[in-house]
Amino acid sequence: MHIIDIMRGNSPTFSFEFFPPKTPEAAETLYQTIRDLESYMPHFVSVTYGAGGSTRDLTHDLVERIQHTTKLDPIPHLTCVCHNEEEIEAILLRYAKSAIGNILALGGDSPAGIAYDKSRDSFQHAIDLVKFIRRFNESGAHPDHRGFGIGVAGFPEGHPATPNRLVEMDHFKAKVDAGAEYIVTQLFFDNRDFLDFRERCALNEIQIPIIAGIMPITSISGFKRIAELAGGARFPAKLLRALQRCQNDPETVKRVGVQYALEQCRDLLDNDVAGIHFYTLNRSDATRVIFDSLAFPRHRNAQASSA
Ligand SMILES: Cc1cc2nc3c(=O)[nH]c(=O)nc-3n(C[C@H](O)[C@H](O)[C@H](O)COP(=O)(O)OP(=O)(O)OC[C@H]3O[C@@H](n4cnc5c(N)ncnc54)[C@H](O)[C@@H]3O)c2cc1C
Repeated sequence: MHIIDIMRGNSPTFSFEFFPPKTPEAAETLYQTIRDLESYMPHFVSVTYGAGGSTRDLTHDLVERIQHTTKLDPIPHLTCVCHNEEEIEAILLRYAKSAIGNILALGGDSPAGIAYDKSRDSFQHAIDLVKFIRRFNESGAHPDHRGFGIGVAGFPEGHPATPNRLVEMDHFKAKVDAGAEYIVTQLFFDNRDFLDFRERCALNEIQIPIIAGIMPITSISGFKRIAELAGGARFPAKLLRALQRCQNDPETVKRVGVQYALEQCRDLLDNDVAGIHFYTLNRSDATRVIFDSLAFPRHRNAQASSA
């Protein structure tokens, strides 16, 4: 389903993010998670894209498997890193053939452990990918006459590569104006950062829906990994204090992390958020607790959006 149709309802959207599994055991966990979460009828699920190599095919395969074997509506992530125009066009054609409705267009993380020269990429920034997908949409190769719906990433606390926040907003507005139809944010732990980002977008006449990215903390090691992966993420003292009190008790850490994310979600809903996107880390338990506690209505159109 095209994102314009997904966002059309009055109530906020709920969505989940998965990453492609690398081992048979990880695949088993993921498919169990997908089964667990399918009954919640999210508005869409998204699948991340690796920085290079064989994991990229795993993304395409997982997206198509979700599309063809579940009632879920998968949105693949696509990045500029290590790609030329021909490769991106081939991926878009493949997704169009499978009637995938939307793409999240991203700059992409640099590949770890290999020499990488960004200047050799055909697309230097996500805006270039957005423009390319727009041109693809105009070619009429997608079964929906509107082509792919296009999403982009937003960073409520700022993106580390552009420390000048005014210049960063100029880049961000240009990316949105190039043809983005929705924004999914980086995870954040202080809703004031999200609400302020949303206000700054409004001041810059960015009027597309902004979906909030939420990641429940479920372990101390996971928490430390987030700090590493989402560079620049700010951890409020309130959260740190709560985790410090129970750091030697894994079950309580999980309860505290889930409770914290639940409070964030309640506050976002009170502030008319357009949608909440859960970074699930391929596990369903934390997301299910939050979902059940919030008593979200199931997405009515989930059935219609299946392949
Ligand atoms: C929701 C979400 C999902 C993600 N999924 C993935 C994933 O699946 N795979 C993955 O590899 N990474 C993923 N990431 C990480 C993301 O790719 C990186 O954080 C990347 O560094 C930024 O992506 P972007 O799309 O914002 O890039 P861009 O929009 O290209 O921005 C990157 C930086 O370049 C600057 N910039 C933009 N345009 C210009 C310009 N014209 N001149 C100079 N500077 C400019 C921006 O200000 C910013 O600092 C995700 C991030 C988010 C928030």
